[in-house]
Amino acid sequence: MKYGILSDIHSNWEALEAVLEVLDREGVGRILCTGDVVGYGADPVRCLETLEARHTVMVAGNHDWAVAGKLDLDWFNERARTALEWTKTHLPEETRVRLGELPLVWQDETVTLVHGSLHEPETFPYIFDLQDAQRSLSLQKTQVAFVGHTHVPAAYALEKGQVTRGRARWGHLMNAQRALINVGSVGQPRDGDPRASFCVYDADQGTFEIRRVVYPVETTQAKIRKAGLPDSLARRLERGS
Ligand code: ZN
Repeated sequence: MKYGILSDIHSNWEALEAVLEVLDREGVGRILCTGDVVGYGADPVRCLETLEARHTVMVAGNHDWAVAGKLDLDWFNERARTALEWTKTHLPEETRVRLGELPLVWQDETVTLVHGSLHEPETFPYIFDLQDAQRSLSLQKTQVAFVGHTHVPAAYALEKGQVTRGRARWGHLMNAQRALINVGSVGQPRDGDPRASFCVYDADQGTFEIRRVVYPVETTQAKIRKAGLPDSLARRLERGS
């Protein structure tokens, strides 16, 4: 079974559409989402409904919970807050309720999903270094966990008590005792590469690959501007920052 793991879509329909096209072409059977479907962009409803229609397994991101009223807006910087307030007024009540019902952590026999870290997931901590990774990996029950939140792809492994940072593009999970993979961001990458980022995990082969796909950034930018959202949210998309 092949899984497509998406994170931080942030209401960017054009990026999501481009990613789903790749997943369909490659016969990816199941879509998993590590949170932040909404926030920042102009297409929250379309992004959420498309993922729901595909029976996507989702966990809550900080933006999802903020829109649902479960996380204080003071948690966010000004432009994020502006976009969240816009999103709140453009989402039907029942949609916001559904976002608030998303769990913080999901796991099956082999895979765990969490937005930030397994360490105090309700506070949405970032995993930036080996120590952050260690805190999450020490609580991880499955061989592999997928996260997002930083908008920067990364891969960590825990082997014989030692945490290492591996190649963030491709890897084999067989030898690693525990693997923690940040899949990057579909709708607002921040690693200097503006292409949408996502992960394909082949559970039979035990391999993962961080993929990038080009999407029409100008269309997304035009929608953000037309919606009256902060212009910097449009500009950052072309830089991937
Ligand atoms: Zn995010």
